[in-house]
Amino acid sequence: MERETESKNFIEQIIEKDLSEGHCKAVCTRFPPEPNGYLHIGHAKSILLNSGLAKEYDGKFNLRFDDTNPTKEKVEFVESIKADVKWLGADWEDRLFFASDYFEEMYETAVKLIKKKKAYVSDLSAEEIREYRGTLTEAGKEDPSAGRSVEENLRLFEEMKEGKYQDGEKVLRARIDMASPNMNMRDPVIYRVAHMTHHNTGDKWCIYPMYDFAHPIEDAIEGVTHSICTLEFEDHRPLYDWVVREAEYENPPKQIEFAKLYLTNVVTGKRYIKRLVEEKIVDGWDDPRLVSIAALRRRGFTPESIQKFVELCGVSKSNSSVDYAMLEYCIREDLKLKKSRVMAVLDPIKVIIDNYPEGQTEELTVVNNMENEELGTHTVSFGRELYIDREDFMEEPPRKYFRMFPGNEVRLMQAYFVTCNSFVKDENGKVTEIHCTYDPASKGGNSPDGRKVKGTIHWVPADCAVQAEVRLYENIIDEEAGVYNEDGSLNLNPNSLTVLKNCYIEPCVKDAEKYDSFQFVRQGYFCVDAKDSTEDHLVFNRIVSLKSSYKLPNTK
Ligand code: ATP
Ligand code: MG
Repeated sequence: MERETESKNFIEQIIEKDLSEGHCKAVCTRFPPEPNGYLHIGHAKSILLNSGLAKEYDGKFNLRFDDTNPTKEKVEFVESIKADVKWLGADWEDRLFFASDYFEEMYETAVKLIKKKKAYVSDLSAEEIREYRGTLTEAGKEDPSAGRSVEENLRLFEEMKEGKYQDGEKVLRARIDMASPNMNMRDPVIYRVAHMTHHNTGDKWCIYPMYDFAHPIEDAIEGVTHSICTLEFEDHRPLYDWVVREAEYENPPKQIEFAKLYLTNVVTGKRYIKRLVEEKIVDGWDDPRLVSIAALRRRGFTPESIQKFVELCGVSKSNSSVDYAMLEYCIREDLKLKKSRVMAVLDPIKVIIDNYPEGQTEELTVVNNMENEELGTHTVSFGRELYIDREDFMEEPPRKYFRMFPGNEVRLMQAYFVTCNSFVKDENGKVTEIHCTYDPASKGGNSPDGRKVKGTIHWVPADCAVQAEVRLYENIIDEEAGVYNEDGSLNLNPNSLTVLKNCYIEPCVKDAEKYDSFQFVRQGYFCVDAKDSTEDHLVFNRIVSLKSSYKLPNTK
């Protein structure tokens, strides 16, 4: 029992205490994105944390669009966010909400605060408000409008709503404490005039609530019990509590902060990614080098791999950065038993087996995944002409090179032993053709007489392999080298994308569809690109290579 509590994260501990002490009967959490961009891996953490807690405690999970700021919001983002949350496996069922549906109640709450003398209309400009606010070491000054009567405030606020004032001419401020050591409590602005069209409410409103006022009300209206947000809102919590208390909600929600998820050498900031998109350095928000959910999906990541990753990251109160290699570890682990293994040659050289009868081919049956027999088998045809990868041949091999070189015998995976006899070079000295002989008795790649070969290499049949494009990725930035150059330009990794146009893959991938993925033996995991791949021209993204120096941290 004791041990069980120990392994719970601090949010679970708070929830369990609230449940056992009767502060909350049924858990309700929410994910509250602002529809102003695409979701990224950090958001995935918040989504899975919130939906996971709801599931764990048999509670409810709401998806709520925090659409109180009409300038930056777009319907396009609402749709992409819904698709991403669903894909990640977080189910909001019928609990989809929009903060803008609560504008009326927020307005009524503001009126209530005015009547309680807890809010007033101010004539100060934004700049004056900043000046009056004071500093961390100096108390703020009273707003000259703070003494207005309830009647006058009600009339002015009504006029704000009716459109009598220009943007910035008047604001509504909460009356709290201009001397508070917490700057957020120095009579924060809770409503502003903004003559803007809203994607949901159109031109109905020309006053909009500020985030710190709107968010607690949204949570309270929906019956959210635990409002989980990131650390930068810690200083806002007293204001959150003030709003739900003064608004007199019966079961006020509780704000809990946790540390954001950061990945090393990966930037998630919207501003940075927007710049990469606008400068056409990447091909949109779903470029496979990015870590938006859409990009990860396109690259070939699975929801399960992201769930595993988030689980391994844990929940903490202090900011830290997680190694990108951990995300790679999670996708490798997830695909290992799920995907068929096929041979693919990324940089082809032709091999001709001189003693193999011309015109003859044979179908070899190969297991799709040696570690998971349920995946069945497929066939690959073996013939006189094949392709192998350029790096599997060397004219003058160093010591301990066991792959193909003149005079050496190697195993062609699943097929035969072959010995290289000679090769042909073009005028630039590039090897264009390798000649071998095969041992018919070694069929299946088995030694006929106990003699050993040290190297096993992959190959594809030259006449019927599928020609495809393969894209290899590396991080776009090297954080240690700095995200920006001195002149303000972006400091980019020139090798973040390598396009290989002339790859050959086993014929069985011929009908692969968007998002299908495979292990290319000895190379890594690859996924059919959902944007650029067509029936006649398959394009594969490398999700992750097979090799890793990554070791899973000791998780207790
Ligand atoms: P960004 O700063 O990357 O643009 P944001 O915080 O402005 O993101 P929101 O739509 O406001 O984006 O965020 C929705 C929710 O996701 C919030 O509850 C926020 O705390 C959470 N969130 C955002 N980034 C991260 C992160 N890196 N790790 C965990 N949660 C995050
Ligand atoms: Mg935000």
